[in-house]
Amino acid sequence: MVTSLPVLANKVQTIGPDVRTITPALLASVGDDSSNELVDTYGRVIRDLRICVTDRCNFRCRYCMDEDIRFKRKVELLTDSEIVRLVRIASKMGVRRIRLTGGEPMVHPTLSALIRDLRELGLEDIALTTNGSLSTKSDLQELKDSGLDRMTVSLDSIRKDRFAHITRSSTSVDRVLQTVRWAKEIGLNPVKINAVIIKGFNDDELLELADLARTMEVDVRLIEYMPLDSGKRWEMDKVFAADEMIKAINAKHELIPVGRPRPHAPATGYRFADGSQGRIGVIATVTRPFCNACSRLRVTAEGRVMPCLFSTTEWDIRSLLRGDASDRMIAKALVAITLRKQAGHRIHDEDYQQPDRPMSAIGG
Ligand code: SAM
Ligand code: SF4
Repeated sequence: MVTSLPVLANKVQTIGPDVRTITPALLASVGDDSSNELVDTYGRVIRDLRICVTDRCNFRCRYCMDEDIRFKRKVELLTDSEIVRLVRIASKMGVRRIRLTGGEPMVHPTLSALIRDLRELGLEDIALTTNGSLSTKSDLQELKDSGLDRMTVSLDSIRKDRFAHITRSSTSVDRVLQTVRWAKEIGLNPVKINAVIIKGFNDDELLELADLARTMEVDVRLIEYMPLDSGKRWEMDKVFAADEMIKAINAKHELIPVGRPRPHAPATGYRFADGSQGRIGVIATVTRPFCNACSRLRVTAEGRVMPCLFSTTEWDIRSLLRGDASDRMIAKALVAITLRKQAGHRIHDEDYQQPDRPMSAIGG
């Protein structure tokens, strides 16, 4: 049975973004430190940028976007050249990996040209997260030829009716799985499938979704539901804990922990004891936060830097990119923002306030 996410008002308080202007005083506060790496006050070094290339999407996944969500005007969004400039500056300060996300990045009209320009910057890794509904095999080949390294495809149900219910789209599950197959054939490896598991919503499919790792020989990443839905329906009781996910899968197929691929990677990995290809990863943001190993900054579609996925403070870097700021000033702004990165997400605190910006506009 398909269960709707109930509206549970006031379970978490929400707060509108506190948009901060990057002032001369802020830039002056970091002195001449702009050539150094980006290190926060807790000693965490920034190596990853997640860039939301558009807030638009052809789906309206219930845990992410409301049906009547209003998108930004095109003029408000960062242009490709603004994104490339920002990444070029950040890459000189130690950023090595980029993930392009959204919204749905495949609706971005010049995505492969953007990737081609980013490739020139000498980054270690360029990855993309997509809902897998829009790209043809030749689109994926073009992205690969432009320099895309890896791809993650989101899929939260393999049941026809439920998939339609969750995504509020007419795309079929097969269409998304075809994208996964194409991505593998083209070599966008390791191809990953992201599935958000929500209690009473799709948790009865946990084992089937996990089995995709074995049958498709891909990494399946099971994600805890986070308070980042535009409808504000999240509540702790809906969170399916990663440890419980692993316990349930392990009862069917024995799993062997393999840790994190990198110390700063969000997912903890497992392989199958019987030697099957494919792996399981769990992203336990809510129940086992990994904030102390965070190496990320996020850039929203309209050019605000968020030091954390759960930040309520956003830094308006677009004004600098569109004004007459030098690269050095933008570098200083990144240093100043990094120094203001919060210790952790505080979801479990009494006074926790959900950011008034859904995952789709942050770039999950
Ligand atoms: N449209 C693309 C997609 O769906 O893959 C990229 C953007 S989407 C915001 C990125 C990832 O965030 C997806 O895997 C999605 O499942 C996840 N996501 C969105 N809202 C979430 C929430 N409230 N909790 C946990 N994950 C969420
Ligand atoms: Fe769109 Fe991705 Fe959000 Fe679904 S999760 S509504 S596909 S941005």
